[in-house]
Amino acid sequence: MNIFYAPPSHINGNIAELEGQEARHASRVLRAREGDYLTIVDGRGGRYKGPIQRISRKSVQIRLEKREQVSDPGPELILGMGIIKKRDRLEFAVEKAVELGARHLALFRSEHTVKKNVRSDRLEAIMLSAMKQSLRSWLPSLMVFNSVEEVMRHYQDARCLMAHEKADREAGVDNLAAAGEKRLLLLTGPEGGFSPEEVERAVESGAELVSLGEYRLRAETAAVTLMSQFIDR
Ligand code: SAH
Repeated sequence: MNIFYAPPSHINGNIAELEGQEARHASRVLRAREGDYLTIVDGRGGRYKGPIQRISRKSVQIRLEKREQVSDPGPELILGMGIIKKRDRLEFAVEKAVELGARHLALFRSEHTVKKNVRSDRLEAIMLSAMKQSLRSWLPSLMVFNSVEEVMRHYQDARCLMAHEKADREAGVDNLAAAGEKRLLLLTGPEGGFSPEEVERAVESGAELVSLGEYRLRAETAAVTLMSQFIDR
C-alpha cells in the first residue's frame, strides 16, 4: 500500500492536490492513471481515499470520497533528544521515533553536545517518508532548542521522563505510576550524556529519571528504546 501526503492547505473541499515529490511519485514511479484510487494523509490525522481526477507530472488531483480522523490511543509522545553528532545516527533516531509514534521531535543543544546545527530539511524529508512508510497519519513537528530546560519549558504541560544511565534500576518505565496524562515528554541525552547540573535542574522542574537497564546505550539506541516502551499504550 502506498500513502500520499497532502498538507491541509492542499485539500479544498473534496479535492486534494499532490505536488512536487508526491505528484512525481504517483505519476512517474507508480504510473497511476485517472480513476485509480489513492490513499492520502494530511499529516494532521486526516486520512482520505478517492479516485484520481486529473494527473500530470507536476500535479495530481484526487476527488476525496472517504474521510476519517485517526487518533492514536494513549498519551501524545514528544521525544526530546540531544543533538547527536553523527548525522546518520541522528537521522536513524529521528526516523525510528516517527515510526514509533512520536508527535513532536524536540532536538536540543546541551552542555555535552558536540554538534550544534542540524539539517532540518533533510530531517523533515526523513520524517515524511517514515510517516508514510509506517502508514501513520500524523506528521510530527520538528523544533530545535538551545537547552533541555527550554524543551521542558516549551512542553511544560507534559509529564517529563528523563532517561538517565544513573537512574535507579527500579525506575524503569514499567514501574511508573500511571497518571493518565495527555502528553509525555521523553528526554534522552546526546553522546556525552546530560551534565549533572542539567539533570539536577530537570529534576527540580519536575522530570522523573528513568532507567533503560543496567547497560549504557548509545544515544540513538536510548531514544529508540525509550520510545518503544510506549508503543500503542
Ligand atoms: N553519560 C554517558 C553516556 C551517555 S549515553 C557517557 O558519556 O559516558 C546517551 C544518553 O542515552 C544518556 O544521556 C541517556 O539519556 C541515555 N541512556 C543510555 N543508557 C541508558 C540507560 N541504561 N538508562 C537510561 N538512559 C540511558
